[in-house]
Amino acid sequence: MASYKELLDRLYEKVKVTESSERFEIPKANVRIEGNKTIVVNFSQICSRLKRKPNHLAKFLSKELASQAIVEQNRLILNRKLNAKMVNEKIELYVKEFVICPECKKPDTELIKEKRFVFLHCLACGAKHSVRSV
Ligand SMILES: [Zn+2]
Repeated sequence: MASYKELLDRLYEKVKVTESSERFEIPKANVRIEGNKTIVVNFSQICSRLKRKPNHLAKFLSKELASQAIVEQNRLILNRKLNAKMVNEKIELYVKEFVICPECKKPDTELIKEKRFVFLHCLACGAKHSVRSV
């Protein structure tokens, strides 16, 4: 049975989680292997959380993971066997490059296209940084 102190600690953990809930957390991919394919089951959720177009993230993952990537309904299908860690590392990379503002570190950004260039525009501080196209 848990001691009173343990219960308090657990309660404290919960409070801490609530307090830090404003901080942006990178969504984790829910990965399933089917044959030689890797399915990211919660792909559309990840994209809406990041406020990015599924095709943009799919293209990025396709390049980074050297795999074909097909968006099918809410899922992403990669035609290679990959583990969740590999996929999540790339999603983190994507967030750092295409979602988080380099100036104020906030995720309230959008990608805008100007001529042939793509910029990460921050809605919080107004900063604009060019990003590579995927
Ligand atoms: Zn900013």
